[in-house]
Amino acid sequence: MKQKSVGKVITKTFAIEDDLKLSSGKTLSNVELAYETYGDLNSTKSNAVLVCHALTGDAHAAGTHGGKKKPGWWDMVIGPGKALDTEKYFVICSNVLGGCKGSTGPASINPKTGEEYALDFPIITIEDMVHAQMKLIEGLGIEKLYAVIGGSMGGMQALQWTVSYPEMMKKACIIATTARSSPQQIAFNEVGRQSIISDPFWNDGRYYGNYLTPRSGLSVARMIGHITYLSDASMYKKFGRDLQDRDELSYDFALDFQVESYLHHQGESFVRRFDANSYLYITKAVDYFDLAVEGNLADGLKDVKAKMQIIAVDSDWLYPVDQSKDLLAALQTNDVDVVYNEVKSDYGHDAFLLENGQMNFLLSNFLSEHHVGDVMKTEVPTIHIDSTIKEAAVIMFDNEITHLPVVNDDNSLAGIVTAWDLSKSIVEDCSELREVMTKNVRTCKSSDEIEHIARLMKKYNISCLPVVDGESLEGLITTDRISHLISNY
Ligand code: SAM
Repeated sequence: MKQKSVGKVITKTFAIEDDLKLSSGKTLSNVELAYETYGDLNSTKSNAVLVCHALTGDAHAAGTHGGKKKPGWWDMVIGPGKALDTEKYFVICSNVLGGCKGSTGPASINPKTGEEYALDFPIITIEDMVHAQMKLIEGLGIEKLYAVIGGSMGGMQALQWTVSYPEMMKKACIIATTARSSPQQIAFNEVGRQSIISDPFWNDGRYYGNYLTPRSGLSVARMIGHITYLSDASMYKKFGRDLQDRDELSYDFALDFQVESYLHHQGESFVRRFDANSYLYITKAVDYFDLAVEGNLADGLKDVKAKMQIIAVDSDWLYPVDQSKDLLAALQTNDVDVVYNEVKSDYGHDAFLLENGQMNFLLSNFLSEHHVGDVMKTEVPTIHIDSTIKEAAVIMFDNEITHLPVVNDDNSLAGIVTAWDLSKSIVEDCSELREVMTKNVRTCKSSDEIEHIARLMKKYNISCLPVVDGESLEGLITTDRISHLISNY
């Protein structure tokens, strides 16, 4: 199917009625979350996918806002025909608590004072962000999400969801992130914060409405952050050592290199869209993120129920592959159903926002589900329970099949006979079907997921399952049909 855009979208606001209890013990009243949705919620409300954004993202994940050309930050994977196919899924994305893109944060008005919170805004955590999102999901009438997905700080939120609300989602995709911020990650964030705090116009956070604001501090914070989102290889590719608007070195402190000019541009455009105090609060939430219990990550993840996908980027040095592998090991220790994928890219951390083909492929494979009904064989030959083994062998031979359901007079399922049972009949010298057939037949429904029944077949060492609807036989699913399906991927 051709990939399309979700088209024009609008950002909505959700007001949380109750006070929000925070990890710090404080509470926040009148909390609002900005959010967007794409696609339609189905009648059973089982197709909702929550997308969580990274450090400086917002609720605008896909499509375009009226009059603007630039699409949402993850338009690459959200829309008809894309991995988060909006013909299939109802996709939700909200701006985090503490943010500055419509959700309550330090730039919001404190109902107690009538002024911006600034530093009176309480310290928030990733858990608090997720708690607020949970209120939104409840408010939308969704009892269980199909999936929670996020990259970078969005991955922390998605992971926190699986810990805080283990029953709330079927699947979770955790991309380019970690289960606990490392000293190096905290260090980079602290340099960014100090850059803001030491800006003379920061004014202890009370700069709202001032003509002069901590633009330069925030810009430098973004420049530092931006370097960590790229890789040396991608910078070489993009800039090399090329000079900017000059043929020779300046021998002063002007901008000589293209990479310098690029970073300044990144910093300047960032200050036009982001609030310096939000940057302080959100980076602090990232630093506090640690799902280990007394240093043990497996203990912290012991209640995870979702089927998990971990995606790491081979050139990501901000959230290196090893951190994803630590997460994988901790989930495996808890016997969680988890797949690990590695994106091959020169882009560094930002690859999850840029590697269109790989991200769509990995996410759609993980999210899509095949059901027994899609691959089962219908029009299956059957044999009556009073038949002989020879009659069964003739039917199997003529039809080139190795599994034959056995039925009663009323066509209800009485048992199953396989090629293995025929061999057994020779070894044990029997002639009646009743003597060799298996009576306690395991069955499945056409709506069952292929993966689930494949696991069942492996567990019980059987190579076929009759597909039933109540008493009546609808078809047969065999390991042959499943390998056929997989080889067509
Ligand atoms: N994997 C091979 C197979 O399934 O035929 C051999 C292993 S297993 C020991 C074979 C036995 O499993 C046979 O006696 C067969 O009747 C039985 N069997 C096959 N499908 C079954 C099902 N859906 N439920 C219960 N038993 C089944």
